[in-house]
Amino acid sequence: MKDILALFQLARREKKLLILSFVCSAFVGFFTYVFVNLVQPIMDKLFQLSPGQAGPQKARFMDTVFRALGINETQLVKLLPLLVLVAIFGKGLFTFLSSYFMKGVGHRVVKRLRDDLFTHLVYQSNSFFDRMLTGDLMSRLTNDVDKIHQAISGSMADFIEELFILLALLVGVFVIDVRLAVVSFVITPLAVIPLALFSRQLKKKSLVGQRKMSEIYGLLHEAITGNMIIKAFTSEEFEIKKFLRATASYFRTNMKLAWIGSLSSPFMEFIGGVVGAFILYVGTRRITQGVISPGDFGAFVMAIFMMYTPINRLNRANNVIQQAVACHQRVQELLAVAPQIQDAPTANPLPSIQGRVTFDRVSFCYNETRPTIVDISFEVGRNETAAFVGLSGAGKTTIINLISRFYEPTSGTIMIDGIDVREVTLGSLRSQLGLVTQETILFNDTVRNNIAYGLGDVPFERIIAAARAAQAHEFITALPQGYDSPIGERGGLLSSGQRQRLAIARALLKNPPILILDEATSALDTESERFIQIALANVMKGRTTLVIAHRISTIRNADRIFVVDCGRIAESGTHEELYGLNGIYRKLYDLQFPEGEEAIP
Ligand code: ATP
Repeated sequence: MKDILALFQLARREKKLLILSFVCSAFVGFFTYVFVNLVQPIMDKLFQLSPGQAGPQKARFMDTVFRALGINETQLVKLLPLLVLVAIFGKGLFTFLSSYFMKGVGHRVVKRLRDDLFTHLVYQSNSFFDRMLTGDLMSRLTNDVDKIHQAISGSMADFIEELFILLALLVGVFVIDVRLAVVSFVITPLAVIPLALFSRQLKKKSLVGQRKMSEIYGLLHEAITGNMIIKAFTSEEFEIKKFLRATASYFRTNMKLAWIGSLSSPFMEFIGGVVGAFILYVGTRRITQGVISPGDFGAFVMAIFMMYTPINRLNRANNVIQQAVACHQRVQELLAVAPQIQDAPTANPLPSIQGRVTFDRVSFCYNETRPTIVDISFEVGRNETAAFVGLSGAGKTTIINLISRFYEPTSGTIMIDGIDVREVTLGSLRSQLGLVTQETILFNDTVRNNIAYGLGDVPFERIIAAARAAQAHEFITALPQGYDSPIGERGGLLSSGQRQRLAIARALLKNPPILILDEATSALDTESERFIQIALANVMKGRTTLVIAHRISTIRNADRIFVVDCGRIAESGTHEELYGLNGIYRKLYDLQFPEGEEAIP
């Protein structure tokens, strides 16, 4: 019951519709009550009590209603069919209304849940995405939310309505004959115990099922995004085997679920049959004793048999709701993760900056086992270009990611123009930083919208100017629809050099005082490389630039070069100074230009 209430909690913001659905369900219960009770006068009138046989002395529900409506004995026989129609029509009308309102609640709840989840995800910090699997997230956002939808829109409506019907029928049987009702329900707990057992098992197994479904989504996602690598390593069979193992495991869990789900209905039905036979035996004795009329007994039996549908549907609804409760738990788990990096309560917007970046004894680790950045201090002045070089995995990307606050240092301070970045709002900080990442991140949209991403309405001339400076204008105009050409998922319709130039155009258009550039490692042909070099030189002009350079040629003219080694700054200085030092930088240089050949100009 606590779980169902938790689902109801989700719907509490739709109070109006919920109340309407409740009221309509109460009317469904009322018309069910009238319908059942109509059986009594019908049977007693149509199968007239034999003259010597007196009926029970108490006033029945329908006797009271007929007296209130001023309907006498002779009118009654004519009116009975009409009353049956009214009761059935009333029940149908309110069933429709309650179901319609509840479906409305479901659609609204699920829309809000999806929107909340997406908003929550977008604001999550990088560490969250490092930890979570994309497939698992997708599964929670689609599969789990769908299950909750089914439960609220369908089963919850059934649940409320059938509960009211059951209540009406229960009141009906107790009013007709308390003793017969009590005797009948002595064996009811028989039905409740297995129902509880079935529910528990179903909930447990469906949680396992959802987890396995997440794994399948994960494998699917990897197979789609990593399809090229799978082909390159001819590991199709290995991937297929992994997938088959996951689906087989999901299948086994589903079959267990099917076993429990399928058994519960016939089992409940059998118990219903036992109850029916018992009632027939006791009821006939009560008629012979003159406590109830045959009409009363007819209504009683009708009510008992009509209980079968709501109990059965309650059981079915309960199964769906239990599965949804498990899904709800998974969704709540996700919503409970607060973004690790948020605006401090006292944060102010960062004023317009000059572009001085200071690291003061900054350390950082992704996990407790090993520090990634150790005690780094440096300063990059306004409009200076600082380059970071070092072996792969030395910690260069980590250093620059700390400036945008994608991660938070474990100790030390990062300042921009002397202001601690933790004391300003994330939005105001990031809006003044330009970022060109190693892996070019583009969206499935047109070239134009990708260049102007996040900037709203930008005059077309400015977009073209940025593209020209980024050496991208020519290839863009050669595309079938020019600037309006779609570039495919993650820019898949473009070459990697073209993607990089689009990303540079985007940074140029934003025109940030500080530019952070993680140079792409992918090898480009000389022609593309030359284009990129010109584009980069353009983008670095007149702003503070922090660049991670994989090609020394990019940074020969940098004001300062920092050599990163095992998370520390091992050397720093200009190209000439470092070359003369004969240290790590010299080794890196000699590795790139073994015969002292010159960098591409
Ligand atoms: P490259 O030149 O190959 O891009 P890098 O110098 O930029 O390398 P980083 O990406 O900063 O190196 O990585 C530094 C260390 O931190 C590496 O040992 C890497 O394995 C680890 N690392 C990087 N990102 C994460 C992450 N998200 N979670 C845990 N460890 C990470």
